[in-house]
Amino acid sequence: MIGTMQEAQALLKKYYGYPDFRPGQKKVIASILGGSDTLGIMPTGGGKSICYQIPALLMSGTTIVVSPLISLMKDQVDGLDSIGVPATYINSSLTYAQVETRIRKAARGEYKLLYVAPERLEHERFLELLSELVVPMIAVDEAHCVSQWGHDFRPSYTRISDLVRHLPNRPLLAAFTATATDRVREDIVLHLKLREPQVFVTGFARDNLSFTVVKGENKRDVLTSFIREHASDAGIIYAATRKEVDQLYEYLKRQGVAAGRYHAGMTDKERAEAQEQFLYDEVRVMVASNAFGMGIDKSNVRYVLHFNMPKNMEAYYQEAGRAGRDGEPSECQLLFSPQDIHIQKFLIEQSVADPDRQAQEYRRLQQMADYCHTPQCLQRYIVRYFGGEMEEDCGQCSNCASPDLELTDITLEAQQIFSCVRRMRERFGMMLVAAVLKGSRAKKVLEMGFDELSTYGLMKSRAEKDIVDLIQLLIAEGYLQLTEGKYPVVKLASKAAAVLSGEEKVVHRIRIQAAPAARDVETELFDALRQVRTEIAKREGIPPYIVFPDSTLREMCG
Ligand code: ADP
Ligand code: MG
Repeated sequence: MIGTMQEAQALLKKYYGYPDFRPGQKKVIASILGGSDTLGIMPTGGGKSICYQIPALLMSGTTIVVSPLISLMKDQVDGLDSIGVPATYINSSLTYAQVETRIRKAARGEYKLLYVAPERLEHERFLELLSELVVPMIAVDEAHCVSQWGHDFRPSYTRISDLVRHLPNRPLLAAFTATATDRVREDIVLHLKLREPQVFVTGFARDNLSFTVVKGENKRDVLTSFIREHASDAGIIYAATRKEVDQLYEYLKRQGVAAGRYHAGMTDKERAEAQEQFLYDEVRVMVASNAFGMGIDKSNVRYVLHFNMPKNMEAYYQEAGRAGRDGEPSECQLLFSPQDIHIQKFLIEQSVADPDRQAQEYRRLQQMADYCHTPQCLQRYIVRYFGGEMEEDCGQCSNCASPDLELTDITLEAQQIFSCVRRMRERFGMMLVAAVLKGSRAKKVLEMGFDELSTYGLMKSRAEKDIVDLIQLLIAEGYLQLTEGKYPVVKLASKAAAVLSGEEKVVHRIRIQAAPAARDVETELFDALRQVRTEIAKREGIPPYIVFPDSTLREMCG
């Protein structure tokens, strides 16, 4: 046992002035203090630094912190200095003499924490110098950098295990990241050679954010009225491409909205200016590509509106999460259109060559699209995506709050879709499945002889688009699966069996709008004729039923 939680709590108060740990921090710190290698997965802003800084204070010797960004390293060390924690850093900004001095001091035990840039670890000589220190723990910040599957692979991160080997006693390893995909997690454990690590995924819920997905509306109209309603608030509008950023920027200008603009196609100077204007509230609205946001820290962003769906949930949550850093209620809106999927597919094709990697990107894109279609609590979907769980629904996202969503039994529809997928031998995409269920006369449907199937036209009273929505819903809920790759194929998941056999029902918080049925048209006609009858009756000054009785009206409607 390295220390107790009481001691840790006392240090939290003494050095940082915070009364309590966040629930996620408590578990991680307890695990480290218990002597286990630990992997802490927490969102950006979740408070990862304290999770290794406080244990470091309770250990004798100097904890080495591997951290990727030189600028952040200096900030962290300055921050620690200001609260009285002895710390320093070593990176390429120092002269060799400075490096030696700092290492000598560290060897004398003058620092509790030594921040090191990963590139340094590539020099054998440096590893030897470090082996002079007493190192109780190595904390690896942004640990996803060790994985090729992460979004920020740094080859030098793989040298961390070399450092461990060079040290006379194996230190404890504590790794931290906000990236929570299984693959990245496995890579971290593998490449850092963590020993029986305790893994904690926590704190992905952000209570002060309310999430909304808007589908099937004119995006520009939604955007303008949203901005008007939030005229005095600072907000970020993310768009998928530079061209779209430029167009939206011009559009907003024409609408009289003073906006800034930011994307990678602008000069450094232009971007720096735009960023400053936004930071200092000279412009309220920033229209930006995903290049905007890394390293900016503006706490009073009241909304983040995605004009296009981003490429995956990691990107979405990171961008949306820039709203409400100050803890005040803030909004995250996503405007979805099916076109967004094509844009992202195109961007993936352009930027990722490796087929395995591409398949993974498509899969993540699908999960992003699922978010736009799920009827469940959006915050819950996010938290689950990142490997966490929520006790209750958030109560404020567009799914939780929407009055026109009701519990609806869609077992029959699900069965119809599942049988059709099965009849089509689980070899086709969702558009074609929907077309067959609709009874479409499309060339492809007829050519493949799908009009012969018993499930052909089974859902003909519905709009084809609604059938697609239903299929997407069943994917989002895990009844159906999509294969990886450019042309994903719909397959039955194991959960579908119990529904097909009638053992289980599918109940959802959704209202499915059937295409207007024949009866509705009749009713409309009936009402129209009755109005005509009233007009005639008024003109002639006789009671309506004398003009013609209801039975005649009904006959006229067929
Ligand atoms: P991360 O590295 O996970 O992105 P940081 O370690 O930079 O997050 O912490 C984010 C912010 O949260 C910092 O301002 C930090 O001081 C604050 N913070 C961390 N832990 C606590 C706590 N227990 N109580 C209050 N604030 C905290
Ligand atoms: Mg951090």
